[in-house]
Amino acid sequence: MRILYVEDNEINQALVERVMRLKQHTVLFREDGEGALALLAEDPAVDLILLDIELAGAIGGLEVIQTLRARGDQRPVVAVTAYAMSGDRERFLEAGCAQYLPKPLNIADLLATLDAAEAGLLAAPPAEPGAAASPTPEPSPTSPPAQLAPPDGSPPIPDRPPGGNGRAPVHEEKPS
Ligand code: MN
Repeated sequence: MRILYVEDNEINQALVERVMRLKQHTVLFREDGEGALALLAEDPAVDLILLDIELAGAIGGLEVIQTLRARGDQRPVVAVTAYAMSGDRERFLEAGCAQYLPKPLNIADLLATLDAAEAGLLAAPPAEPGAAASPTPEPSPTSPPAQLAPPDGSPPIPDRPPGGNGRAPVHEEKPS
């Protein structure tokens, strides 16, 4: 696939470039929304857009996707962002993103997203990031055992809080 990654963070660029090279995808980078919109206007061969929301230029990722859709460009867009507050995921999906990948980027989720895009599945109703492909994370050695198996036989504590932000549970625990 030919992929545009709109991202102003060099570390994320480098990470994604390595994954793309491994999977033999071509990846183009733009650091701001203006550059991304200009490229997409000229390059119909881009198959998939990975879009950071907080960008270097004057316009943010949400405006990028709104502008794309307003000019009739329906190519799949995956929001890739550290925005994790309640409601943000819904906001991105409402704006027309096919999927939302939280940062720090989970490689398994990214690979699953690439596979879905390659199979033409990203136009379908959005799924939880990596819901189909991500295995349940291994229990972290730093997790208190009570979190994994309540000793009193009460129901297990859910992986994510009700009304959670969609982040994978593995990101919600900081090693102490
Ligand atoms: Mn950014």
